Amino acid sequence: MRLTSGSPSAPGRAEKEFPMKLGYLIDMDGVIYRENQLIPGAADFVTALVSTGTPFLFLTNNSAPTGEDLTVRLKHLGVHGLSPKNFYTSAMNTAEFLSETHPNCTAFAVGEGGLLAALHERKIANDAIHPNYVVVGEGAATTEKLTKAHELIEKGARLLATNPDNWCPVSSEKTRPGAGALAAFLEASTGRRAYYLGKPNGYMFHRARAHLSDSLNRVDQVVMIGDTMETDIRGAVESAMLAYLVLTGSTQLEDVGDYVYQPTRILHSVAELVEEVRTGKPAPFADSPYFTHAKNGGHKHGNRHQTDILALQRPRPRPAMTK
Ligand SMILES: [Mg+2]
Repeated sequence: MRLTSGSPSAPGRAEKEFPMKLGYLIDMDGVIYRENQLIPGAADFVTALVSTGTPFLFLTNNSAPTGEDLTVRLKHLGVHGLSPKNFYTSAMNTAEFLSETHPNCTAFAVGEGGLLAALHERKIANDAIHPNYVVVGEGAATTEKLTKAHELIEKGARLLATNPDNWCPVSSEKTRPGAGALAAFLEASTGRRAYYLGKPNGYMFHRARAHLSDSLNRVDQVVMIGDTMETDIRGAVESAMLAYLVLTGSTQLEDVGDYVYQPTRILHSVAELVEEVRTGKPAPFADSPYFTHAKNGGHKHGNRHQTDILALQRPRPRPAMTK
C-alpha cells in the first residue's frame, strides 16, 4: 500500500528510480464524472496529462458510445483537448478480439452505436442469418432482438458480451441493466455460456496498454485509475499494473478490505494526482497508507457487486426439449 518510489525506511533495498515514466489508463464514470457532473479536479488532471505529454487512455466498459460521442460529452462537461483516439471502450475491445482471433467472422449485434461502429471499423459484417457470433452490449435490446439472438445461438452462433457488468449506475439513486444482464438472459434461454470482454478481462488491459504508448516497456509503468474493485482494480492487479482506487464512485473505503485483491494506492479523487503529473514527483501523502479494513465482514445494504463472477459458475439448468 505505498507508491512505487519505495519506502524510505527500507535500507539496503534497491529503490525504484523516481520519476519513472508512467502512463495512465483511466476509468470514466466515478473517476472523471458522475451523473453528468464533472468530479472536482478532473479537468485539471486531464489538462496536466495533456500538457506534460503523459500517455493516457480512457478505459470504459460502456459499449454504447463511440469515441466521438465521449469526446463531445467530456467537452460539454468542461474537459477540452481530447480526441476519439483518447478512448478505448469494451466495444472496441470486443471488435479487436474478434478481428484478431477470427478474421472475416460475422456477427449479429445487440447493442448501440458504439458497438456497431466498432464492429464496422474492424470490418466485421453484420449477419442476421448465420453469424459466427452473437455480440451483446448495453442498451437497444428489444424482445424481438433477444429472440433473434436466441435463435441464432441455437443455430450455432457463439455468445460474446462486451462486458460482464450486470448493472450500471445512472445516478446515486438509480441504476440500469448492463450488458452482463442481457448476456445472462441469453445464457439462461440457450443454456450456453457467454465469453465476456471488457474489464476485468486481461485482454482489455493488455490491448489498452498496447494502444497507450510504445514507450512504456514495463507493465508496472502503467497505472489503472478506477472506482470499482471488481473491474478496474481486479483487472489491473491481474495484469500486474499499478492499481489506483479513487473514492469518488462506487467504492466506499470501509468496503475495500472485503476483497482479496487490493489497490496499490487509494486516493480521494484524481485531483490528488494533478501536482504529481505536473512535476513528475510523488506528492507527500503518496507513501502514507490510509487504508482500513472493514470493521465487520458483512455486506451493507445496497452493496451490490457489479460483476458477480461466482454467479456465472452456477449451473443454469435447462429443461430437455425436443427439436
Ligand atoms: Mg467507474
